[in-house]
Parts: sequence; structure tokens; C-alpha cells
Amino acid sequence: MKKKFQDLTIEIVKGDITRQTDIDAIVNAANAFLRKGGGVAGAIHKAAGDELEKEAVSLGPIKPGQAVITSAYNLPNKHVIHCLGPVYERDVPHDKLLANCYDNALELAEKHELKSIAFPAISTGIFGYPVEEAATVALNAIKEKVPFLSHIKLVRMVLFSDNDYLAHESVLKKW
Ligand code: ADP
Repeated sequence: MKKKFQDLTIEIVKGDITRQTDIDAIVNAANAFLRKGGGVAGAIHKAAGDELEKEAVSLGPIKPGQAVITSAYNLPNKHVIHCLGPVYERDVPHDKLLANCYDNALELAEKHELKSIAFPAISTGIFGYPVEEAATVALNAIKEKVPFLSHIKLVRMVLFSDNDYLAHESVLKKW
């Protein structure tokens, strides 16, 4: 499903973030030390190769809501933007910190003059953020950033399960 904002498209798809061949930067739901880890980070590091961890670790540690950018190595993208999401009910206010992730990642992509960026549903795995709540925070944070973006023309959220997709679809349908 897609929504257009003049010449910028916000899109949701079901899929794997490591397979976004048409996207300039993919976003990693990182850990504070930017090490390989599990979940989406594990999949991204596995697809990128060992060089990614070497570069990423040198930029850490980061705090919840922060983002850093690296090369994408063996991935089919130019860059990986690593964001540390909040752990639900531990890193507070979790909604503000989660919105900061999207805001800071978009800012980095814009600064690097990238045209497209793909996000996973940050914090909704191991970090325990309920996906229905996270979907509202994520999509609203992206929408609020639209007026400040000139290079970015496509923002895609890549959802790993039917349930995650449906949670995001119900937010987009209300716009
Ligand atoms: P966090 O620690 O921020 O919660 P996780 O990696 O545990 O991060 O999960 C974040 C989300 O990414 C979850 O919804 C999970 O299902 C999803 N996910 C896991 N692997 C992939 C993948 N290859 N592509 C897209 N999303 C993925």
C-alpha cells in the first residue's frame, strides 16, 4: 500500500529488509554497541559481511533514538543507517525515542542526498514494542518529516509478518 505526498511516496510492503535492491539506504534496528546481534540486525550483518560490523562498532555506542550511517558492503544498497530503538517500558518516553529514530535516520539520508530509504519495524521484536503502537509512532514520524525532505522520494517500511503489515496498513488507511 502507498500514500503520495506530492512527489514523495510512503509505502508499506511485506518482505525482507536485506532484499531491497531498489533502495539507497536500509535501516538497521541496531544494539547500542552496533554489534551483529540477532533479529533484523543479524540478517543485515549476515548479508553485508564482516566489514559492516567493523565500521559500525567504531561509531558506537549510541543512545536510544540516535542513528549513524555506514557503507552497505555486500548488500544491494549504498548505505546502512543504524538506529537504536527504545526498549518498551524501559527507555522512556518510548514513543518520543522511537519517533527520534525515524526522524534522525531520515535526516541522515537527506544529508547524504539519498533518494530512497527502507525501515524495518524498529523496536517491535526483541525490544517488545507492541506493533500496533509502534506503527502509529513510526508512520506519523515519517509523515511529519515530509515537508523537510527534498532528496528523498521514497520511504518504504518493510514488514516481516502479515500481522506487522496489517498493523501498518490500518494506520495508513486512516490518513
Ligand atoms: P528490536 O531489537 O529493535 O526489537 P528486532 O530485530 O528484534 O529489533 O525486530 C525488529 C522487527 O524486525 C521485528 O518486527 C522483526 O520481526 C523484524 N525483522 C526481523 N528480521 C527481518 C528482516 N530480515 N526484514 C525485515 N524485518 C525483519
